[in-house]
Amino acid sequence: MKTVRILLILFLSLNLSASLRYDAEEGMYPLSEIQKLNLQQAGLQIGINDIYNPNGVSLIDALVKINGCTGSFVSDKGLMITNHHCAFGAISNVSTPEKNYLENGFLAESFEEEIPAKNYVVRITESYEDVTAEILKSVEGIEDLSERNKAISKKMREIAKSAEDEANSIVAEVSEMFAGESYVLFKYRIIKDVRLVYAPPRSIGEFGGEADNWIWPRHTGDFTFMRAYVAPDGSAAEYSEENIPYSPKKYLKVNPNGVDEGDFVFILGYPGRTFRHNPSQFLEYQENFNLPYTEQLYSYMIGIYESISEGNEELQIKYSSRIKSLANVMKNYRGKMLGLRRLNLVEKKQSEEKILAEFINSDENLKKKFGTLFKDIEEVYQKRFDIAEADLWFSRFFRFSDLVSLADFLLEYSNQKELINSERKSAFKEDKIEETLDRMKKKYEDLNYDFEDEFIYKMLYDTETFSETSTIKAVKARVNGTNFEEELSNYIEELLSTEIGNPDFFNKALDLSYDEISDLNDPLIDFVVELKKQKEEIEKLESNISGTLQVLMPKLAEVKKLKNKTTFTPDANSTLRLTYGFIKGYEPADAVFYKPITTLDGIIEKSFMGGEYAVPDKLKTAYQQKDFGRFYDEKAGGVPVAILYNTDTTGGNSGSPILNAKGELIGVNFDRAFEATINDFAWDDAYSRSIGVDIRYVLWVAKTIGNADNVLNELGVK
Ligand code: ASP
Repeated sequence: MKTVRILLILFLSLNLSASLRYDAEEGMYPLSEIQKLNLQQAGLQIGINDIYNPNGVSLIDALVKINGCTGSFVSDKGLMITNHHCAFGAISNVSTPEKNYLENGFLAESFEEEIPAKNYVVRITESYEDVTAEILKSVEGIEDLSERNKAISKKMREIAKSAEDEANSIVAEVSEMFAGESYVLFKYRIIKDVRLVYAPPRSIGEFGGEADNWIWPRHTGDFTFMRAYVAPDGSAAEYSEENIPYSPKKYLKVNPNGVDEGDFVFILGYPGRTFRHNPSQFLEYQENFNLPYTEQLYSYMIGIYESISEGNEELQIKYSSRIKSLANVMKNYRGKMLGLRRLNLVEKKQSEEKILAEFINSDENLKKKFGTLFKDIEEVYQKRFDIAEADLWFSRFFRFSDLVSLADFLLEYSNQKELINSERKSAFKEDKIEETLDRMKKKYEDLNYDFEDEFIYKMLYDTETFSETSTIKAVKARVNGTNFEEELSNYIEELLSTEIGNPDFFNKALDLSYDEISDLNDPLIDFVVELKKQKEEIEKLESNISGTLQVLMPKLAEVKKLKNKTTFTPDANSTLRLTYGFIKGYEPADAVFYKPITTLDGIIEKSFMGGEYAVPDKLKTAYQQKDFGRFYDEKAGGVPVAILYNTDTTGGNSGSPILNAKGELIGVNFDRAFEATINDFAWDDAYSRSIGVDIRYVLWVAKTIGNADNVLNELGVK
């Protein structure tokens, strides 16, 4: 009997420790918070100081932000690893039908062969400092909420500007941690010369394409090696032959033995945006406006790009990057729409708010302070709902139509150049205007009338169903008869007869005043003049809405803290964060369980479908010949390819290093499961799973498919 009891206790405690071990927590922790975590208990075998040490060297010195992604140094010569999809723009940019690195992959066998990745910039976090008091002091006494909002943004820019140190390649940014409540100044070292070192063929780096994007089980070799270069004196410099590889303070040690199910892992990275602290109306806005509108528009735009580039390899390469990013957002939004419904998130949030409202009403003091909070939030969101369709429409129209955006720029420029420098919008200030002009002129390389024709038609067509409060006046004024479609086609033809598509016209018009431009009687410019009037009204309303929310959100957070007696981690805001968890499967649907490690066998299985699943012959041959080298894993029963874990990540964590208990690199994060796309709004261990490429697959591909022995040597992997 006694033995049975002991066994039972042992069994229960083992089970308990197993489930404790594998439960991760919601949280993308800022560096200032990680000392408070009990990471050792979760499995970490190094000190917190080894991860982050403001007075010395630590793992975070090996971390980089690379454009919108994360990456990490993996050698003392500035070698970095990130995702293939993060380097995609750089690879497609240097690819041509003759030298198609995107299709075939790229390897530089020596430093000289490395290719510059145009427009790639690396940032390394140097330090941070709380500047809340200074920011909030600067807006004391400002009653108008839109003005307050503007004043906060202005102060944030001012503090950042005065912290910049160009001579030492330091840029600065003030980031809002909690809306209206806390602000931190981050200083970053920048590096402006980034080069491609090794990228696998697209059929490996993007294996499974859009079909597998945001999906588990996954078999994508989503990694690329790049290198950071600086001027001989160590400062940031644009590409030059003189530049030398950057020598980082710290680089990550690669552990070629990978991980097992149940292992502790942690991730350092630059997660972009999450929205967990927003009220239920924010979710309503997403569910009813932003997500469905954007999803259907992007799907339509992808269709246009595909049809205009059909049979034209050059155009296909040119649009590949654009299509990819549209498709990425589109599918993410589909996942979110499903998640919102499946999890009943709006109702759940509403119930939480009901409890908070009851809590407020139960206490006279709370009532005095927060009595109108929920009513105020409802009111302000109602204003946002009213203009939502118009607001989304304007932002997408001005962003994606090159003709509209060129006309908008001309009009704006003619006004801004009349102002003194300090009063101009930032893109028009003396130190920025050349760059802005260059960017605008580059649009002529991309301008495609087939696209413009179809896109403008689609945009104008959509306005027909907008609610009264979101009517697009300039469209209604022109296309309002009974024969809508015919009128629309005629009007588009008129719009496309614009001169704005001619770069000479644009260059000459730069010298004209606003009135002179308006007097040209150009149909598209006239249309944009009218659109801009309404766009500016909406921007003003939006600024007022944001300003009001900036005052209401800290109150909502305060009530939550009082009621739940907890503190919160701030939403992701593109600043450096740590998250931890375990290699762990999950149940995405009734009666389905997903294991957390995929293998090369799965690639071969999928490859029979061809298309996005086709693989290079070399991979098939290596598989048939069992050429697995040291990367075969007995437990997994093959070469591990991708891993799944319950950390808390989002967009921007792409390329983040996945580290084991000792802080060694065992994989590169690149995605989340479809069910986890909703974790931008609500994280839960039941469905929040991130996806990474296993380091063993990275090394196997680099060696076996890429013959990149030079890279493996540099990593110190035999
Ligand atoms: N695939 C994502 C990205 O592009 C990563 C994520 O959202 O989890 O950043």
